[in-house]
Amino acid sequence: MKTVTDLGDLTGRRVLLRADLNVPLQDGRITDDGRIRASLPVIEQLAGGGARVVVCAHLGRPKGEVRPELSLRPVTERLGELLGRAVRFTGDVAGPASTEAVGRLGDGDVAVLENLRFDAGETSKDETARREFAARLAALADVYVDDAFGAVHRKHASVYDVARLLPHAAGALVQQEVAVLRRLTQDPDRPYVVVLGGSKVSDKLAVIDSLLPHVDRLLVGGGMCFTFLAAQGHDVGGSLLEADQVEACRRFLDSGKVVLPVDVVVAPDVSPDVATEVVDVGAIPTARKGLDIGPRTVDLFRDELAGARTVFWNGPMGVFEQAPFAAGTRGVAEAIAALTGALTVVGGGDSAAAIRLLGIGEQRFTHISTGGGASLEYLEGATLPGLAVLED
Ligand code: ADP
Ligand code: MG
Repeated sequence: MKTVTDLGDLTGRRVLLRADLNVPLQDGRITDDGRIRASLPVIEQLAGGGARVVVCAHLGRPKGEVRPELSLRPVTERLGELLGRAVRFTGDVAGPASTEAVGRLGDGDVAVLENLRFDAGETSKDETARREFAARLAALADVYVDDAFGAVHRKHASVYDVARLLPHAAGALVQQEVAVLRRLTQDPDRPYVVVLGGSKVSDKLAVIDSLLPHVDRLLVGGGMCFTFLAAQGHDVGGSLLEADQVEACRRFLDSGKVVLPVDVVVAPDVSPDVATEVVDVGAIPTARKGLDIGPRTVDLFRDELAGARTVFWNGPMGVFEQAPFAAGTRGVAEAIAALTGALTVVGGGDSAAAIRLLGIGEQRFTHISTGGGASLEYLEGATLPGLAVLED
């Protein structure tokens, strides 16, 4: 993949930058600006090199409709504050307002288009519709740079089709993500321990399938552990259970590499002041839900992680968003962060958010991936359209 430097002198050239600015919002306010901050280096690099930077990104899932609450205007304002300079918001998605705003950019200026997903062409399955939209995006620029790793697994107009229309390069974030993930797939240092959690087994079946032959241990927590526990013959009460995945879990258990919780935190429901109880996995009451791994499991997982040279972690160990169910995720995060001399990679939007929310310290991990789905698909060995197109 070409780097931005490989594109040569960018003075006066219009650069369409696909960035990942998909930040969480609450009542119109940005609750975590991590992704905006992560995009600053490439924007500064391009603007500093005299390019006229046209930033495009998506926010949420507006499904091809203009949804004012998902406008990128507040994100543009935050970006301007963080860059310490004026950033223009064009007001539409590659429409007349954008054409005009881009036409007025001077060298080193930065503009942001409206939410790409306000246009149905962005995510359309119809290639013609996607290409038509990509052509309008391409008309705004002379070159294309992709630094939105979180979107490279999507065959979307701004990720895939537009790269076929313009000279292109991968930004530093994308380059860095790929370099780290490659280390996980090509001869990783052993022991190699993978920790998986999160809500659904079905989301992670493919990655378990492809990782299992290559890892030494797979530690399973989160909502997905209950389908594994059911496969072992346990009654999981009201916990999350994907009955149609029990058979697949049984097959994974046959590998002898899967480590499951021995105790769990249960409660009648998810709520911040509910009464909780720690029970053995063989004694989950029928009317209770398992919402976090228990303290003995944290100890067990810490022991399994001790001495690991390579660790990949995806998916929280419990409903960490609520204090009574956060201890398992905190314990496992601390255990991984405490490893010295190991390659430690965290993938997944909620896992990354958990690290920040629990105040673990992002710098204590080798790498925190900005793209959950993209990093999982990369590890599955899938071809990611947004990367493949940049390699051409
Ligand atoms: P990531 O975004 O890191 O890939 P996922 O999206 O797979 O992670 O899963 C995150 C969600 O899983 C969180 O919202 C968390 O509350 C939920 N979760 C974790 N453990 C449980 C559980 N025991 N029961 C229900 N939900 C859970
Ligand atoms: Mg998630």
